Amino acid sequence: MRTPIIAGNWKMHKTVNEAVQYIETIQSNQLPQDVEAVICAPFLTLHTLQDKLAGSSIGLGAQNAHWEKEGAYTGEVSVHMLQDLGVGYVILGHSERRTYFAETCEQVNKKTIAALNAGIIPIVCVGETIQERESGRTFEVVSSQVKKALKGIASNELHKVVLAYEPVWAIGTGRASSANDAEEVIAYIRKTLMSEFGTAVAEQIRIQYGGSVKPENIATYMAEPNIDGALVGGAALDPESFSGLVKAA
Ligand code: PGA
Repeated sequence: MRTPIIAGNWKMHKTVNEAVQYIETIQSNQLPQDVEAVICAPFLTLHTLQDKLAGSSIGLGAQNAHWEKEGAYTGEVSVHMLQDLGVGYVILGHSERRTYFAETCEQVNKKTIAALNAGIIPIVCVGETIQERESGRTFEVVSSQVKKALKGIASNELHKVVLAYEPVWAIGTGRASSANDAEEVIAYIRKTLMSEFGTAVAEQIRIQYGGSVKPENIATYMAEPNIDGALVGGAALDPESFSGLVKAA
């Protein structure tokens, strides 16, 4: 019922030329049509990639955006600018942005609302640190992040949101959460969505797992009933590896 979604998060990787080569490789790989494949690239490459992907089934996303339409915010790019370019997705609240750029839950909420208003699908990241996990606070932390990110969103818009459960300790470490553990937290997120927004909406929202996902382990996550895809960093940087992830999903 929920279409699987595999998103590659390039983070701060790839020049324009490297990005073009990558897209040419995945386009020659015939990706399956029943999986939503999305590339989330640095701002600088989006314009070129948008041209390159015109008419293709591969989606294009950014990795952050400002909620204001325009203004004196040096160094920022707005949701409105992404919309104008035809960018379809945006990663919001990634733990690297929360940690290194002090992004708050309130900002993630504003960005999520702005993205939805612009017709852009937000991929909203949540996840606990290792200290939070070890002190038994995983469910509490993750459900609080979800509730704050989705606060005030109209119920007929909520189904468009994609959530990504990314335990901070699993990102870029090679220490992936087991599929069982990820399913447990993601099922809890879905339960939280049910009590906040009702069963119908909760069953429509797609929830990805992220954190050291690779072509070799993706099938274990996809086999879980509540996991609807993956947000992938390191293993999405190579086009063959990304194609393998989409094919295995
Ligand atoms: P990783 O990153 O796949 O390299 O662990 C995931 C992410 O940060 O989205």
